[in-house]
Amino acid sequence: MSVASPLTVRLDGRFAGELSELALPWRAEEAPEPALLVLNEPLAAELGLDPDSLRSPEGIRFLVGNEVPPGATPVAQAYAGHQFGGYSPRLGDGRALLLGEIEDPDGRLRDLHLKGSGRTPFARGGDGLAAVGPMLREYVVSEAMHALGIPTTRSLAVVATGRPVRRETLLPGAVLTRVASSHLRVGSFQYARADVDVLRRLADHAIARHHPEAAAAEHPHRALFDAVVAVQASLVAQWMLVGFVHGVMNTDNMTISGETIDYGPCAFMEGFDPATVFSSIDGQGRYAYGNQPVMAEWNLARLAEALLPLLHDEQDEAVEIAVASLAAFRPRYADAWSAGMRAKLGLPDGLADDVTAPLVTELLALLQQGRVDHTSFFRALGRAARGDAEPARGLVLDLAGFDAWAGRWLALGPDAEAMDRVNPVYVPRNHLVEEALDAGTAGDLGPLRLLLDAVTRPFEERPGLERYAAPAPEGFGAMYQTFCGT
Ligand code: AMP
Ligand code: MG
Repeated sequence: MSVASPLTVRLDGRFAGELSELALPWRAEEAPEPALLVLNEPLAAELGLDPDSLRSPEGIRFLVGNEVPPGATPVAQAYAGHQFGGYSPRLGDGRALLLGEIEDPDGRLRDLHLKGSGRTPFARGGDGLAAVGPMLREYVVSEAMHALGIPTTRSLAVVATGRPVRRETLLPGAVLTRVASSHLRVGSFQYARADVDVLRRLADHAIARHHPEAAAAEHPHRALFDAVVAVQASLVAQWMLVGFVHGVMNTDNMTISGETIDYGPCAFMEGFDPATVFSSIDGQGRYAYGNQPVMAEWNLARLAEALLPLLHDEQDEAVEIAVASLAAFRPRYADAWSAGMRAKLGLPDGLADDVTAPLVTELLALLQQGRVDHTSFFRALGRAARGDAEPARGLVLDLAGFDAWAGRWLALGPDAEAMDRVNPVYVPRNHLVEEALDAGTAGDLGPLRLLLDAVTRPFEERPGLERYAAPAPEGFGAMYQTFCGT
């Protein structure tokens, strides 16, 4: 395969050209002393970019937007959004830029995007910057999600800028180079609804990029909404199955593609509890673990509202269509989640629902009662399926309850190998992420590399990596909080 040097890469301006009303041409702030902290070589190769040239001084300037390939038009994207339920008509990329779209060797368009690249006209009171720690967090968690098989934006690189960022203290600044199948959000549609012509073009652009099958439907825009409902139902089910808490499911942080986006106050749950919330600003638990499906549905209702003029000329009929389409969310979510739970339990297809559903419900009650570590428990169940129940049994409180449950489950003949393919050993546990970020901020990337090695091959148990499979030490979990917009 031939690979391009960064400055000969062709960056398309498809979004900027088709939706100029939502695209403000802008340039990244000059990074005084850019230094590459981490580069995703497999992803570079996927994009047809040469890792060696990305490591060159010119390549690093490309990664922070200071060298722009000829013909590219970096833009800040306009969008609106409901943040914790309150509507902001104008958010937009306050500290981010879309460099352009890159066509990968398979012909797929991928956005090349910067986060932390300086103030834009959407910055409001913000400084437009990002600190090393949060950009490394997005890198490691998004790559872990990808390795878990969960749709997500990707991280190509984190480059330290050499510019300090003022938070509670002065911190080293960084830019994350992000790759996504697009950055179209529910909030993009909320912004565009002010002008039905822009809204229509945005919907057509979204169909072409993400849901091309909708173009052939009798009502393409209704089919687009149906497709977004379907991909989001599936996405949130996958989050729930691995214990992922997004933390800030505002409508500007929900994609049309069905990829997870914006790793701010996200974290993986350890002890199972639907009320789990990590974000320091989510006092009400709006985006708690167990609330995520409901919040996804709420966000999709906001998308439907924005799309109404495209669904039908008569408002009443448009509302009826939207309500009927949105009704598909719950059964789709339930199907995806139940199928995922059956897979986690190694159960064959075709078992009756009235056998598997109570089994799952009872298990979750046992897990919640003992605040059992979600990741270790499901992995340990694989050993129980092989005849060694002790590791799983040792994690629960109600031993008699577990034994009774396990007897019924084992009688169904769970497939241990299949379980090991869906129950990860390694997820980016909060204490390990913090350890890697603290060291990375202080200039030592060793812990980050070790963590990345564990979580990017999450299903492959490896000797020597035991501490990456273990819950946080006593006392860490209860105190743990994550912060937004840092
Ligand atoms: P987020 O919660 O990260 O999805 O961001 C919500 C909004 O705040 C978006 O419009 C961001 O562009 C903006 N924003 C977040 N942090 C900053 C910052 N440091 N400077 C400027 N804008 C920001
Ligand atoms: Mg955001």
